[in-house]
Amino acid sequence: MKQTSRLKRVFIAFSIGFTLVLIGVVSLQLYRSYKETLTAAQANAANLVKSMAQHAYDTYEDMDLASFGIVERLEWDGFGSGLTSENKARLKTLFKRQVAQMHQVHGFFVYDKDGNWIVTDKDDYPANINNADRIYFIYHKTFSDRAIYIGTPIRSRSTGDMVVPVSRRINNPDKSFAGVFLITVNIEYFNQYYADFLLGPNDSIVQALRSGEVISRLPYRESNITLNLSKGDIYSKHLLKASSGVVRITSVVDGVDRIQGYRALERYPLVVQVGLSRKDVLAPWLTEVVFYVTGLAIMLGVLFALGLLILRYIRLDQEHQVELKAAYDAVEKLAMEDGLTGLANRRHFDVVLPVELNRARRQGYCVGLIMLDVDYFKKFNDSYGHHMGDLCLKAVAQVVKQNVRRAGDLAARYGGEELVILLPNTDDLGTHKIATAILEGIRALGIEHRDSAHGRVTASIGYHVVVPASFDCDPSQELGLADVNLYTAKELGRDRVHPEMPLL
Ligand code: GH3
Ligand code: MG
Ligand code: MG
Repeated sequence: MKQTSRLKRVFIAFSIGFTLVLIGVVSLQLYRSYKETLTAAQANAANLVKSMAQHAYDTYEDMDLASFGIVERLEWDGFGSGLTSENKARLKTLFKRQVAQMHQVHGFFVYDKDGNWIVTDKDDYPANINNADRIYFIYHKTFSDRAIYIGTPIRSRSTGDMVVPVSRRINNPDKSFAGVFLITVNIEYFNQYYADFLLGPNDSIVQALRSGEVISRLPYRESNITLNLSKGDIYSKHLLKASSGVVRITSVVDGVDRIQGYRALERYPLVVQVGLSRKDVLAPWLTEVVFYVTGLAIMLGVLFALGLLILRYIRLDQEHQVELKAAYDAVEKLAMEDGLTGLANRRHFDVVLPVELNRARRQGYCVGLIMLDVDYFKKFNDSYGHHMGDLCLKAVAQVVKQNVRRAGDLAARYGGEELVILLPNTDDLGTHKIATAILEGIRALGIEHRDSAHGRVTASIGYHVVVPASFDCDPSQELGLADVNLYTAKELGRDRVHPEMPLL
């Protein structure tokens, strides 16, 4: 039982240790894959945003170059007076061809200094419309810089489409304001371009002005057009520190937690963003977590179940062993003990005697052998009955037990009313002493025996001491010598020990 509880403790300690190690290893692995997943997503966002920024740059650069050429030509040809109807017709044809070639372009427009439409690629548009109220127009009229101006998305007055105005100032030869050349960019062009990327439903792509006004945003919504991100962290914080980067942002638009790559274009006041939903990015990792955790739980469960089963078997086996041992002990006792007196039986004595004699010879000590026989016991039985005879034998055995108490001593019932005693490491003197004590003990019992000359129960005792010198002694012969002495004691009148004096 003690062993079982030790085993149990070892098992529990092992299980805890094993579980901790396993959990540690799995956690480490999951943590690493978590980090790897995020790092990969960050790199992905950075790369995507870089290529989108390049695309946006190229798109606007095309319009930069196209408008540069046309404005140069308008100024050279003479914008006010030089624009004959023939010139206008030529320009219109040129505009049409260019617009047809540039997918991103919605239209080319020329306005005079008052905002009146002079030339456009469009064939029909509302008559008498004036664009002097447009912000880009006011800008060019106010500022004399010659770079392109990219404006807030507006709805085209010619087609009703949402467009980004890209405009450039036209000067008179004296550098005074002559008008505006405008290219309108189809926002739909960007929407479609971005929609081609294989992104998840919660990911986002944004192209916006540096001021935060959104030009195009995926996922597309009508309300995107009026979106302004200037209050978002990217525009109010991150862009102030670095023109590009990858940050974690919870969108001000839809509240989605994203890994945001952002990049401001170099020459144009534009920003491109790619946002990968963290939830979607981490979804495969979460699957991995579920897989590992389930696997771990199953493994540990099986391990514990097995362990408990083994422990149970060990416990049952041990209980069985204990029962078996008890049974063996009982059988052994029955086989080696005399039922009436509780002394060893003859078989027991016969097994022990040669072993003891051998040991005595090896170790060089004496062994005392005593044989005892109750006197006139047949008569006792005849007079008092067999039951009383049994009780008498028990009492005699008790006397023997009281006098034979050393660990190696062995008293046995040799047969009938005959007892034998083995006294290892006991010499003549000692053996005689014990024999005499037993003799007197039996006398002292004072059991009445009317058919005995002594009037009470007595015994005759013969003893013999085996000395180590008696080489190759035969156990039965040695015992026989004690028996001879017992016979002599009987001969000499019973109720005595023979030899009467130790052989010192
Ligand atoms: P002696 O003095 O010469 O030894 O005479 P004895 O009568 O004791 O010797 P004997 O060997 O003739 O008789 C032994 C008797 O012991 C025979 C038997 O009735 C009795 N006896 C032997 N074993 C038992 C026993 O277990 N119980 C009882 N009650 N009597 C037994
Ligand atoms: Mg006898
Ligand atoms: Mg007898």
